[in-house]
Amino acid sequence: MNAPRPALRTLDDALADLLGRVVPLARVETVSTFEADGRVLAQDRVSGLQVPPQDNSSMDGYALRCADLQAGAPDAAWPVSQRIPAGSEAQPLQGGTLARIFTGAPVPAGADAIVMQEDTETLSDGTVRVLRAPQAGQWIRRSGEDVARGDVVLRAGQRLSPAQMGLAASIGLAELPVVARPRVALFSTGDELVMPGTVPPQAMKPGAIYNSNRFFLRALLQRLGCEVSDLGIVPDRREATVQALREASAGHDLILTSGGVSVGEEDHIKPAVQALGSLDLWQIAIKPGKPFAYGRVGSAHFIGLPGNPVSSFVTFAVLVRPFLLKLQGAASTTTPVTRMPAHFDWARPDKRREFLRVRRNAQGGLDLFPNQSSGVLTSVAWGDGLVDNPPGHAIARGDAVSFIPWSDLLA
Ligand code: AMP
Ligand code: MG
Repeated sequence: MNAPRPALRTLDDALADLLGRVVPLARVETVSTFEADGRVLAQDRVSGLQVPPQDNSSMDGYALRCADLQAGAPDAAWPVSQRIPAGSEAQPLQGGTLARIFTGAPVPAGADAIVMQEDTETLSDGTVRVLRAPQAGQWIRRSGEDVARGDVVLRAGQRLSPAQMGLAASIGLAELPVVARPRVALFSTGDELVMPGTVPPQAMKPGAIYNSNRFFLRALLQRLGCEVSDLGIVPDRREATVQALREASAGHDLILTSGGVSVGEEDHIKPAVQALGSLDLWQIAIKPGKPFAYGRVGSAHFIGLPGNPVSSFVTFAVLVRPFLLKLQGAASTTTPVTRMPAHFDWARPDKRREFLRVRRNAQGGLDLFPNQSSGVLTSVAWGDGLVDNPPGHAIARGDAVSFIPWSDLLA
């Protein structure tokens, strides 16, 4: 007799359950700021200085005191008392003079504005006329206007990207404490799988297919900051699966597999994980991507993704990504969503929440890939994101829908 079908659970419920099982990694390492792209900061960073350090000029021109200018005749020619290139030290401004100044150079004490050189005229004797008087404070960048000494510039849990790396450098940090990379063991299951490069297309046996999941899953993991041990393809045999899992559990934070998580006789993941640890098979009410397995093998987490390439890709995006972000201590694990108009009809929605492969068009709307089957990886490659469509929700052309761009998701 068949076991009763487990009830479908919502994605939100499954995600909350999954995240509830994650304790962020305690391992912290120090990396060069150059190498910090994509890593999660482990401790707050506080600025030990003002940025900019002094008031400085944002123009090439002359530093002056507005009161001097007002006291003089409109066509007065002023002597130039000092020259201040960027990187040099300024002397206090002598009354009744201008100081030649360049972009980034410190404003001399006593000066309260910069006149840009285009608004001046240099006479043959070297004196300078100011053709247009600046306002007080003009073209001066104030000390600390970017960062004040004592500011928390970067917070623990922030995922670092090029802008944060530059900001860290601007407060003098050559190294940053980041959470260690999650160590992930990846393997694919399925006797039908053949590695590209081992058999040419014309020599593929009936029933054989190339292993595509391995390629995108490895890249997705690496983009999310993981160190991947790629254990290749595990044959559809119980013993081989147990052996692979046992090996993978040592020295890894997560074992990620694709395929073999349905409940057919050739799906060996479930009994193998259960033999070594614990496993829950979740039926999640999403399309594509219904079967999903979570368990533990030793101290490692286990996640089993469905074998269908699109299901694998989508479940990675909506479940594994937040899981890995939390594992690295990221403060935010939410999936970014924007509202955009659908430029298509979706008249027969599924009872499950659907993730439709779509692409932004030049008219500011979303086009739908015509074949939404979970085996059609072209839909993912053609598309540039997903529409997150609620259960049973029909879409008419022009409706606003929730769009999740790959660019945000996979960055
Ligand atoms: P399974 O979940 O093992 O029943 O696999 C579901 C479907 O996905 C089958 O059609 C498999 O051939 C296919 N599949 C499983 N693993 C992969 C893979 N690594 N690359 C491409 N297709 C796969
Ligand atoms: Mg299989």
